[in-house]
Amino acid sequence: MLVSAALCHPLHCSMDPDPHEDTVRRLREAFSSGKTRPAEFRAAQLQALGRLLSERKQQLQDALARDLHKSAFESDMSEIILCQNEVNLALKNLHTWMKDEPAATNLFTKMGSAFTRKEPFGLVLIISPWNYPVNLSLMPLVGAIAAGNCVILKPSEISKGTEKVLAELLPQYLDQSCFAMVLGGPQETGKLLEHKFDHIFFTGSPRVGKIIMAAAAKHLTPVTLELGGKNPCYVDDDCDPQTVANRVAWFRYFNTGQTCVAPDYVLCSPEMQERLLPALQSAITRFYGDDPQTSPNLGRIINQKHFKRLQGLLGCGRVAIGGQTDERDCYIAPTVLVDVQETEPVMQEEIFGPILPLVTVRSLDEAINFINRREKPLALYAFSNSSQVVNHVLECTSSGGFGGNDGFLYLTLPSLPFGGVGNSGMGRYHGKFSFDTFSHHRACLLRSSGMEKLNEIRYPPYGPWSEQLISWAMGSQSCTLL
Ligand code: NAD
Repeated sequence: MLVSAALCHPLHCSMDPDPHEDTVRRLREAFSSGKTRPAEFRAAQLQALGRLLSERKQQLQDALARDLHKSAFESDMSEIILCQNEVNLALKNLHTWMKDEPAATNLFTKMGSAFTRKEPFGLVLIISPWNYPVNLSLMPLVGAIAAGNCVILKPSEISKGTEKVLAELLPQYLDQSCFAMVLGGPQETGKLLEHKFDHIFFTGSPRVGKIIMAAAAKHLTPVTLELGGKNPCYVDDDCDPQTVANRVAWFRYFNTGQTCVAPDYVLCSPEMQERLLPALQSAITRFYGDDPQTSPNLGRIINQKHFKRLQGLLGCGRVAIGGQTDERDCYIAPTVLVDVQETEPVMQEEIFGPILPLVTVRSLDEAINFINRREKPLALYAFSNSSQVVNHVLECTSSGGFGGNDGFLYLTLPSLPFGGVGNSGMGRYHGKFSFDTFSHHRACLLRSSGMEKLNEIRYPPYGPWSEQLISWAMGSQSCTLL
């Protein structure tokens, strides 16, 4: 059902044939009024979002702990600090980002002014998943606000605690005439998607990404799709196994493996596998103790459905480390699998949990072939002491992002675009990339109404010299004759 205590329009029950009509109309009117366009309005909303993040940090942390048993450290590092930084960056650069970008002219247009104007799309829909429910709702929201749009945010119904807190807090901080939340699951989102939006920003699975894109196509609405998939992690024979194990274990078991950019499986030689196993065991014990279930630093699986799905995957190959489960607690121990077959489910679907299969290959080329036979991943990692090997993997493969000798830290840099390619998505965001994603780049050329004589060469009747002259005038970008 459509919600939002205060952010949204009065409650409608799901029997209502179109529960979102009023919200969409109201926000469209606000956008048409021009209210969101001035830099001052955008900055005020961003500042308000920044205040929400600092004043209500505890509430957000509590909600994340309820939903995912997330530790305060992981909540801060991967959700709240990243959002705060994004707000600060947007505030610092708003005026620069909003400025028209001058463009080169040719001889034809030399006397005019050519520039790209970044204008807001209008009404934007942001749909987010449950695994980083604060980050993946607010990071795109920052970009959409900075670019001057009105926004409907549809967070995941699965991370219920965070959904509730966001629905309670956002209306207290943001201008309700321009920003709304719609709560609900697939059915509710389906109804929402019948409306025309000016841009849809979706984060979630490739399966639902296709549904979103099909719905957007009906209105020719542009989409950004931030999707998932299986992220390979190649480990070269020359690596120090403990260093690799520390790094891989940290970013595989961070958020209990429920991370879109986590390494989904390791590719290494049988010899490296033998050296990695004790090193991974040592890293897991150091991070989470002898009984990880009692560790305050290890989260839980989001719900029973995902717990059961992951429990099923434990039957693939052979459990070399971990494998313990507790259904009532949605607990799955940090686990390493070996001897898995390519055809087994754990190698067919995105794992999205604390299970790491090690797959053996005989050479770097075999690893690259293995990677390239599959869909393009969201992230790809290569560990080696040789920069040539790391660069070779980079050269011979494609993925949304790439990490050499480390995990997903690249996504903490707003100077880098974050997004997928192929099956892992389309479009990019973070920092200025977000501003650009939520802006229409309008090509503008302003000319004077005088000097009509200069235009004669382009008007019919075309003479034998017209083509030559035109080709010269249009190609002469750097000509300074005029
Ligand atoms: P999901 O695709 O099931 O759901 C995402 C959102 O879509 C939710 O808000 C949900 O309510 C909505 N939704 C679900 N089914 C729908 C339908 N039939 N019609 C319309 N809307 C629908 O994804 P999830 O389970 O929430 O998240 C896990 C997936 O998201 C994984 O594949 C993961 O890799 C991916 N992910 C990607 C990124 C990224 O940045 N690329 C980040 C986090 C998660």
